[in-house]
Amino acid sequence: MSADPVAIARDLIRCRSITPEEGGALSYLHGVLAKAGFAVQRQTFTESGTAPVENLFARIGDTAPNLAFAGHTDVVPPGDETTWHHAPFGGELAGDKIYGRGAVDMKGGIACFVAAALDYLNADGGAPKQGSISLLITGDEEGIAVNGTIKLLQWAAEHGETFDHCILGEPSNVEVLGDTIKAGRRGSLSGTLIVTGRQGHVAYPHRADNPIRGLVTLITALQAPLDEGSAHFDPSHLEFTSVDVGNETVNLIPGQARARFNIRYNDCHSPIALKTLIERRAQTAAAGRVHYAFEWQPSNAEVFLTRPSPFTDLAIAAIAEVTGRKPKLSTSGGTSDARFITKYCPVLEFGLVGQTMHQVDECASVADLATLTAIYRRIIEKYFG
Ligand SMILES: [Zn+2]
Repeated sequence: MSADPVAIARDLIRCRSITPEEGGALSYLHGVLAKAGFAVQRQTFTESGTAPVENLFARIGDTAPNLAFAGHTDVVPPGDETTWHHAPFGGELAGDKIYGRGAVDMKGGIACFVAAALDYLNADGGAPKQGSISLLITGDEEGIAVNGTIKLLQWAAEHGETFDHCILGEPSNVEVLGDTIKAGRRGSLSGTLIVTGRQGHVAYPHRADNPIRGLVTLITALQAPLDEGSAHFDPSHLEFTSVDVGNETVNLIPGQARARFNIRYNDCHSPIALKTLIERRAQTAAAGRVHYAFEWQPSNAEVFLTRPSPFTDLAIAAIAEVTGRKPKLSTSGGTSDARFITKYCPVLEFGLVGQTMHQVDECASVADLATLTAIYRRIIEKYFG
């Protein structure tokens, strides 16, 4: 069985798997993994109002410990394809780079952990002597992520699968391969602030109550710092993303004004405590004179932290042995499927360098694919020691 990450990455990139399309990517992996002796299962998950999405679970070995690798084969759309110098679904090789949508986010990462697992199994006589390797691959990460990893994990648990540790192959490195492991993510909470006044003629403001004044007062109050950060996280941050009155008339004081905001919060807060904090600040600033309400959006992006442990030490050591760099444990950036995995087992995110993800001419260096494969290979070897 070939364990060439470049060949696997190119084959995956050629699958047009824009969320929620499977695009042949999971079928391709199914073939590769089944041939190597993995038990492969495909599951399509549905939810009303969303497109059904296919997912793949594969496992080899039937004893503990079970080391899981997780990732997504879906990609964001390429945008205007004529602006690409290399076809987004061509898997072209030019110079030291492999080009295409998903090259770093994250078909390249999947290619590396698949190649590493196959290589390890080959060296081990085709099957693990002890323990198991599992793969959790979703087609619903770049979209709304309701028919993906969250349901694949539930399904696996219902079928008696347990995981001891997981590595999610998202592009975690900032500048160079080996600089960063993501060991946690901030939570994300969105809401809308609605201030209600009284509509009226601009020439007679005393007969009206302009909600824009109240909105400005509350916006100012809510932008105060939320905390000073914690041992493993930067300070939480609230950012207003839209202010909406929708008034097209010049001589009318509107009756209502709204502002949308998003908070990226650290482990100083739970979602409930954070909502209480925001609502209390608004109450103080309103001082009984501004009539307002909050609408909170449901969120499945809670903050989490994977604390330093022998597993994180093992990953750091493997990365250092292959690259000569000691990665830092970071909790920066947006949310990822690790927020779901953390409820089942400790999870670290480590993959390619993220610089070109979601960009035109997304690309990964061939050298990086080889190095990342060597790192995953080393992690597997150390893990099953
Ligand atoms: Zn990704």
